[in-house]
Amino acid sequence: MIPTTGSYRLANVRLHRSLTPGLAAPFDADGFTLADIAVADGKIACIETPGRSAPADAIDLAGRIVLPCFVDCHTHIDKGHIWPRKPNPDGTFMGALNATGADRTARWSAEDVARRMDFSLRSAYAHGTKALRTHLDSVPPQEEISWPVFETMREKWRGRIELQAACLLGIEGVRDKKWFERLAKRVAAAKGVLGVVTYMVPDLEELLDQVFAQAIKHGLDLDFHADETDDVAAISLKKIAEASLWNGFEGNILVGHCCSLARQPDLEVLDTLDKVAKAGLAVVSLPMCNLYLQDRRNNHTTPRWRGVTLLHEMKARGIKVAVASDNTRDPFYAYGDLDMLEVYRMATRILHFDHPVGDWPRAVAATPAEVMRLEGAGVLAAGGSADFIVFKGRSWTELLSRPESDRIVVREGRAIERQLPDYAELDELMVG
Ligand SMILES: [Zn+2]
Repeated sequence: MIPTTGSYRLANVRLHRSLTPGLAAPFDADGFTLADIAVADGKIACIETPGRSAPADAIDLAGRIVLPCFVDCHTHIDKGHIWPRKPNPDGTFMGALNATGADRTARWSAEDVARRMDFSLRSAYAHGTKALRTHLDSVPPQEEISWPVFETMREKWRGRIELQAACLLGIEGVRDKKWFERLAKRVAAAKGVLGVVTYMVPDLEELLDQVFAQAIKHGLDLDFHADETDDVAAISLKKIAEASLWNGFEGNILVGHCCSLARQPDLEVLDTLDKVAKAGLAVVSLPMCNLYLQDRRNNHTTPRWRGVTLLHEMKARGIKVAVASDNTRDPFYAYGDLDMLEVYRMATRILHFDHPVGDWPRAVAATPAEVMRLEGAGVLAAGGSADFIVFKGRSWTELLSRPESDRIVVREGRAIERQLPDYAELDELMVG
């Protein structure tokens, strides 16, 4: 359907207002309009609303939805696909932490990490993702193994997936000042992002100050995992916002999870959201992973909450909000394939990204692109790269009711071959 070379024009494309900045068009109540997209030399030459008849050689998409390629801002492709050899024994967060730690210590050689990462990236690419940030477990000695693998992988995938990485360690790891300074230097050398997992330790404020000091010293953006728990006393999101304000931090900060916020009393929530907005933090919810891990008390109870954080309340205050894949087929989440359409579909159901849809589609494209400093990604605009996905669906209900396994992914104007890797490729890594 999409020509493999040259210039062409797609007619009757259904575009969403939130992802086509600057397009003046009569958008309907669902935020859609019909338009034509002209593609030339791998770029979008122009987007026009039909007012005149399209040329005879235009490709009529008959109202199919076209979205920009996805941006997945929170993943763990160093952990991905270890499930067959290291399942989570009970589905809990602690079960995940312990199982992953044991697997990392025993099995995460450079080759093991590289092969699983490449598998994950091939899946993400086939589903239509063009940029992805992964966290890298960076507790010694893993940082010396995984960061070089990441640098090689980023080169290998350049032009297909823009790959970013953030280091990942429990906040207590920051207490070893010398080692943490060395890690920050290593992250800076790889042009990475400084990340830690925050939870309520007695010296949290002091440790956060050290994290901010290293980020400022090395010019790094920050990426936190915060409060991935139902414990109402977990307020590290607020502590991060406060630390950002009093340190005068000017880089980007992305905070993931923030599950406990949804369990706290309104006054506490309002105070935290005020500070998060003032500090300019962006928040990413991981709806599939949080639904899986949170409120799992034992195997004989039914979960009673959804695990996600307060994205609607955040967005209403102007806080940048995103959703992302998080873990795939590892002890933190037994499923998943880095398909951001699946993430958006699940987010729509779990987080109510509907009635109205409003500008929620930004949460899988334009907003994470801004947080990751990817100019021109996550939107469709004249002059931008012709990176987009053509779906069968012509409305939200059609788009989000089927897996859209036959979507067409176009990169630099050309339809890519969408080959998902075979699970059997990883079998030899799963034995023993
Ligand atoms: Zn995560």
